[in-house]
Amino acid sequence: MYDVVIIGAGVIGCAIARELSRYQLHVLVLDQASDVCEGTSKANSGIIHAGYDATPGTSKAHYNVRGNPLVYQWAQELSVPCKNNTSLVLAFSEADLPKIAALIERGRQNGVKGLRTISREEVLGREPQVNPAIAGALLAETGGIVSPYGLTIALAEHAAVNGVEFRLDCQVQALSQRTDPNGRKAHFEVQSAQGLIQARAIVNAAGVFADVIHNSLSQDTLTISARRGEYWMLDKRIGAQFSATLFQLPTDKGKGILVTPTVEQTLILGPTSDFVPDKTDTRTTAAKQEEILATAALTWPGLRQDSFITSFSGLRAHLAEGDFRVGRAPDVPGYYLAAGMESPGLTAAPAIAIDLAEQIASDFDLVLKPDFQPPPRPIPGFSLEQLADPTQMDLLAAEIARDPAMGRLVCRCEQVTEAQIRAAIRRPVGARTLDGIKRRTRANMGRCQGGFCTPRILEILAEELDCDITTLTKSGGQSRILMGRLGVEP
Ligand SMILES: Cc1cc2nc3c(=O)[nH]c(=O)nc-3n(C[C@H](O)[C@H](O)[C@H](O)COP(=O)(O)OP(=O)(O)OC[C@H]3O[C@@H](n4cnc5c(N)ncnc54)[C@H](O)[C@@H]3O)c2cc1C
Repeated sequence: MYDVVIIGAGVIGCAIARELSRYQLHVLVLDQASDVCEGTSKANSGIIHAGYDATPGTSKAHYNVRGNPLVYQWAQELSVPCKNNTSLVLAFSEADLPKIAALIERGRQNGVKGLRTISREEVLGREPQVNPAIAGALLAETGGIVSPYGLTIALAEHAAVNGVEFRLDCQVQALSQRTDPNGRKAHFEVQSAQGLIQARAIVNAAGVFADVIHNSLSQDTLTISARRGEYWMLDKRIGAQFSATLFQLPTDKGKGILVTPTVEQTLILGPTSDFVPDKTDTRTTAAKQEEILATAALTWPGLRQDSFITSFSGLRAHLAEGDFRVGRAPDVPGYYLAAGMESPGLTAAPAIAIDLAEQIASDFDLVLKPDFQPPPRPIPGFSLEQLADPTQMDLLAAEIARDPAMGRLVCRCEQVTEAQIRAAIRRPVGARTLDGIKRRTRANMGRCQGGFCTPRILEILAEELDCDITTLTKSGGQSRILMGRLGVEP
């Protein structure tokens, strides 16, 4: 019997797991995917939102504003790439300026510090590539960017070194709460793809499927719709065009199309915002990619397509009430939820995790561990700056002498070595798939999108996992990469 079973290994589930791992508890995280961070947490804008956008008084506003400084703090603690690059909301005409003032007032009501209007000249001084036709902008000093998969994986690893178990490829198929002989609500039974699991408490962090989990336990039913956001990603060759995140004014569909650098120095454009009936449909479409181009060109008239390297999309988990639902479910003791986690769920994750862990700790009289372990050290490697710096050559040579795999380059675009790929597989909650390697090392994420390095990564994965190379997948399930061996009889 587990004390707590967390359903969903996205940023919310992993953040809660890490917070619960501070207590003397037996915690299990389940996910139907073959890796952590295979849902919405891998495909979003990666913005640390300041908090001026959410309606005052909502859970979104509360957790966004509390979460913002915590993301910076957690990213530093966990060695996750993160930058306080600031955000700008552009006014394209004089008529937009009152809307900027209204956003500042909303931010003030939410308790956001560091918001002000800046002039057209100040915007262009900071961001010379921005459309010179703008009238001014909102500057949010606390806005930033973070690696969303870096944060999620680091949280999972830190939870794992503190005893949390992870069971992947483990879909929850049914859920019920037992009643004891006195008619009182007792433990939970989770029917999963890997058999029956029992737990004293359940945390629902199942993203777009949190309604399915919730409705199997609670009478107070929820409906979550998937609202897809598509993106373009541009090569790091032009990533330095902008330093801040550039928003247009928000609409009723969300925060609009942004242009932002990422922590890896690429640029992303997007996201669109459209409901899709299938909650697994993460396609990108020609029509929406055109829409992004047309809208982003308003922010960045110099936008050219020759640096586009890929497109991707993520699904917002939209609750009809338009807000997050976080906390205890009143009609099901021992059941906790974090549902409706659309934007700014990434920013809010630390604050939500702290609150939920405190609620569970208080309900179950939990005791803190005396020997809570620090996070594992990041995967060793050389930054692109180090590789370009002649004064670092002796250090590099010494590292390569110590471990020759540090000198064998596998991904040329992102300069990832064999040693880093092996380390990504050997880590707590290590990579088992090609995408798992990608999110832990960036191999496959560069200009060639894996065209050169994929075969070697697969060989290393097969060696490390001691499996037949043809069984390896891109991201679990049916996504096999190799169909067989030429010249080998079946
Ligand atoms: C387009 C877009 C842009 C965004 N931009 C930002 C941003 O810039 N800043 C920001 O703060 N937020 C942003 N967000 C929001 C943020 O990405 C989400 O709030 C956050 O990632 C949600 O995390 P999660 O853990 O709830 O969901 P997920 O990451 O989706 O995790 C849920 C997990 O549950 C698992 N699961 C579901 N059902 C089952 C089952 N039956 N059994 C087992 N496992 C199951 C899934 O496999 C999945 O791994 C954006 C979202 C989108 C879509």
